[in-house]
Amino acid sequence: MSVEAPLPVKETPASSPVTTEAPARTEIQSLYDQYVVGTVNRGLTLVKGKGRYAWDDQGRKYLDLGGGVAVNSLGHAHPAIKETLTRMGDVLMHSCNLYYNEWQGRLAQRIVELTGPGKVFFCNSGAEANEALIKLARKFGNETGRYEIITTTNSFHGRTMATLSATGQDKIKHGFEPLLPGFVHVAYNDLAAIEAAITPKTVAVQIEGIQGEGGVNIATPEYLLGLRVLTKKHNLLLLWDGVQDGFFRTGRWQAYQRILENTAGAEDFAPDAIAMAKSLGAGYPIGAVWIREPYQNVFTPGSHGTTFGGSPMACAVALTVLDVVEREKLVDNIRARGEQLKRGLEPLVGTRIKEIRGYGGLIGIVVAEEPAAVVSKLAHAGLILIPAANHTVRFLPPLNVTADEINEAVRIVEKSL
Ligand code: PLP
Repeated sequence: MSVEAPLPVKETPASSPVTTEAPARTEIQSLYDQYVVGTVNRGLTLVKGKGRYAWDDQGRKYLDLGGGVAVNSLGHAHPAIKETLTRMGDVLMHSCNLYYNEWQGRLAQRIVELTGPGKVFFCNSGAEANEALIKLARKFGNETGRYEIITTTNSFHGRTMATLSATGQDKIKHGFEPLLPGFVHVAYNDLAAIEAAITPKTVAVQIEGIQGEGGVNIATPEYLLGLRVLTKKHNLLLLWDGVQDGFFRTGRWQAYQRILENTAGAEDFAPDAIAMAKSLGAGYPIGAVWIREPYQNVFTPGSHGTTFGGSPMACAVALTVLDVVEREKLVDNIRARGEQLKRGLEPLVGTRIKEIRGYGGLIGIVVAEEPAAVVSKLAHAGLILIPAANHTVRFLPPLNVTADEINEAVRIVEKSL
């Protein structure tokens, strides 16, 4: 998460005298104060979840449409995930990549069937998936001395040294200089800026179809199609960061499919590699990189690797998530719920909301106040959302969110903002 989480929410009973003293720290908060590295200003203390609801340590119930920042694709405590975790705990949890495992092979097959001809590398997180994209580009350009990657301002690609160097937000990089060389940032949705930034050393362009952390900024169809032409012309890899906007969140498998719907030439669009994570494991950590033919053999034995990536447990869970999404027709559901949410919030535009952007399960509302303050206020009213940059608050609901839950969220926003 790149943005600051809201400060703890504490309800003051109506009869309590107003006090300016900071609320006493709970035992759990004190443990964090003493023992957990303070990389984030944390909010609630969640102790339990069921479906789209979560409970805090004070017994308060929340409608959780933040989904753990786009991770809980099936909500909390889904029985199919629990069954897989229990079964695989008995069968084979971890084996390592020195050996074959059936679940990794089957998951790679499903991802290739969903995406297109190519192969898959498995890792454990979004940053690692993007790190693999960057290494793929470096390896691809190595013989010709090309290593520069063009990325966009406001992008977010992770917190490792390579991925924060790729990220187009100064606040993420601050204090970690010198950064990894070889990244150039240009304005998003500006094809001419990309073209102008290409040098003989350029090897790739790395983008998100929807900048989630950056404020739910959506690429235009012309930008995507133009990028594909440009990258082909200059023999550059088009690297797609689908960590947040992928896995059906927009109502299609990958965001480019949704953005390019009804656009002539869309069928010819495919990136050269896609980073995936978050919703893929519905809460169990997993990352993946799909690499298109003919680049799938750029990585050779020994050139990249991971101990945990693609474990039997992680891949079995991801296979289960895919089965549930298909069986319960969750792609249609999230598409419809996204439209319902936008319709429900529409009357607030111009008064309490400045703008609504996004698709399906990745919708941002632009607010006047600081997003963290708005998120805190909404949590106080029982709705969990996620702040983003540029005055944006994100809805990142599970793909199985119901129509009633969306109505409930709209009511809470109406009452609280
Ligand atoms: N890429 C994008 C688009 C993201 O939204 C994120 C996380 O928010 C990442 C990469 C990093 O993923 P992770 O936090 O799993 O390392």
